[in-house]
Amino acid sequence: MAVIRDRIPHFSTSVPVVVIGAGAAGALAALAARDVGGKVLVLDRDASPTGATAYSSGMIPAAGTRAQQSREIDDSPEHFAQDIQAKSNGRSAKHLVEAYTRSAAETIDWLERTCGVSFELVEGTPPGHSVARMHALADRGGTSLLSALYRTLAARGVRMQPGACVTDLFVDGEQRVRGVRYRRGEQEIVDVGCSVLVLATNGFAGNADLVAKYLPDVRALPFAGHAGSQGDALGWADDMGAATEDMDGFQAHSSVVMPQRLQLPWALMTEGAIQVNRLGERFGNEHEGYSESALFVLAQPEGIAFNIYDERIHEVGLAMPNYPEAVTRGLIKRGATLRDLAESLGIDRSGLEQTVALVNALAFEDDMDDFGRPFHASQMLLGPYYGVQVTSALLGTEGGLAIDAGGRVLRPDGTALPNLVAAGGAARGLSGDAGGGYLEGNGLLAAVVGGYLAGRTAAELAY
Ligand SMILES: Cc1cc2nc3c(=O)[nH]c(=O)nc-3n(C[C@H](O)[C@H](O)[C@H](O)COP(=O)(O)OP(=O)(O)OC[C@H]3O[C@@H](n4cnc5c(N)ncnc54)[C@H](O)[C@@H]3O)c2cc1C
Repeated sequence: MAVIRDRIPHFSTSVPVVVIGAGAAGALAALAARDVGGKVLVLDRDASPTGATAYSSGMIPAAGTRAQQSREIDDSPEHFAQDIQAKSNGRSAKHLVEAYTRSAAETIDWLERTCGVSFELVEGTPPGHSVARMHALADRGGTSLLSALYRTLAARGVRMQPGACVTDLFVDGEQRVRGVRYRRGEQEIVDVGCSVLVLATNGFAGNADLVAKYLPDVRALPFAGHAGSQGDALGWADDMGAATEDMDGFQAHSSVVMPQRLQLPWALMTEGAIQVNRLGERFGNEHEGYSESALFVLAQPEGIAFNIYDERIHEVGLAMPNYPEAVTRGLIKRGATLRDLAESLGIDRSGLEQTVALVNALAFEDDMDDFGRPFHASQMLLGPYYGVQVTSALLGTEGGLAIDAGGRVLRPDGTALPNLVAAGGAARGLSGDAGGGYLEGNGLLAAVVGGYLAGRTAAELAY
C-alpha cells in the first residue's frame, strides 16, 4: 500500500468518483453521489463483497423517523446525541455526533425512496438508548441491508468491481488524488483516474500489528470482524499528511460464540440474563455495554464466560438477530435444573446454584448488587434454564481519519485535503477514545449516515 507521487500515469479510464470499499459506507456513498448525477466506480478487494456490514444486525439508529412517529415515540436528534455522548462521557466528536444524529432520519427516508425498501422500528430499547430507535428491514441482518444497496447500485448504473484490491493512490504535489491502482487476481494491475476518492475501507481491527500499536490492551481479544479491515486507509492518509483521531476507541463484544463468530444479543442481559465464569461466579455488571465488558470476560479463566437465563428470556432471544441461528446450530444448552445446565456447559454446579440463588434474592427485593446492577422481581430466573458458552472478541476499531461533518479528510491543522473523503470505519467514529464509549448502533450509524453524507460531499467536489 503506497502513495505514488512521481509517476502519475495517463489514465485510459477516469471516473469522477471512485469509492474504495463496498460495505455500508462505500455503498451509501456511491448511491448518494450517483443520486446527484455523475459516474461512480466502487472497488472492493473481495470477490463477493460483504464487509463487516454483513456481520452486523443491520439495525440503524435514527431519531424522529416516521416509524417512530407512527408509534408515538418522542425522540429528537438532540436526545439521540445526548445518549451517544453519555456513553462516551462526552468524548465523542461533537461535530460528527451532531451531523449524524441530525441526518439519520433523512437518510432512512432517502434509503426507503431510493432502494424501494421499508424500515421497521425494532421493538425494545437497546442498552444506553433512551427510547426505541433501531431501524431494520423486515428480515433483519446486515446481509439484507447490503443486498438492497447492491440491487439499487446496479439499477442506477453504478459500476461495482469486485476482486479489486486497491494498492496505491496517485497523488500530485497539491495533495490531490489523481487516481488509484488496483490488483485483480495475481497478475492484473489496473490504474483508474478520479476527481474525488472516497475511502470506505473500514478500520484496522484485522491488522494485528496496528492493533498492538494503537490498542495494546485488547490485542489478546480474538478478532471476529471482516478480514478486509487492514487499516489501508490509515496508511495512505498518513502518507498524505492527514490527521487521525480517537485511535484508542474500539468496538468489542462480550457475547460471541467462536469460532462461528456469532454475536449473541446483549439485550438478553437487560431482560435478566447473567454472565458467569467456569466457577459459576458473576464478574461484573452485565447492564454495562458489551464493548467495555469484553475485557472482563477476557480476564476470566480460559477467557470464556457463560450466558445463563431462563425460558422467558430464551423466547425473547428467538425474535432477535443471530439467536435463532445459535439455537439451530445446537449452541444453546437447556437444563431442567441448574444442575443439568451446569453439567452440560461444564460449569461448577454449586457455584452456579449459589449465584442464581443470590440474584433471585436480589430480584425478589428489587435490589441492586455490588456491581451496581439493579434486579427486578419480574426477572427472577426460573427453570427450565438455558445457557451458552461465549467469549469476548474485537469487532472493529473506532479511531480513524479525522473528517469534517461532510466526510472531508482533514490535516492536523484542520484544513481539508482537496479531494479525499472518508466514511464508516475508515474515519473516526462516534465513540470517543475508549472501548467503553461505543453505544449500540454507532458502527452502522457512522457507516450508513456517514456514507450518505460523504457521497453528497464527493458529488459536490466532483461534478
Ligand atoms: C460481528 C460484527 C457485528 C457487528 N454488529 C453491529 C451491530 O449490530 N450494529 C452496528 O451498528 N454495528 C455493528 N458492527 C459494526 C459494523 O458492522 C461496522 O461498523 C460497519 O459495517 C462498517 O462499515 P464499513 O462500510 O465502514 O466497513 P465494511 O462493511 O467492513 O466494508 C469495508 C469494505 O472495504 C473493503 N476493502 C478494505 N480494504 C480494501 C482495499 N485496499 N481495496 C479494496 N477494498 C477494500 C473490504 O473488503 C470491505 O468490503 C458489527 C461488526 C461485526 C464485525
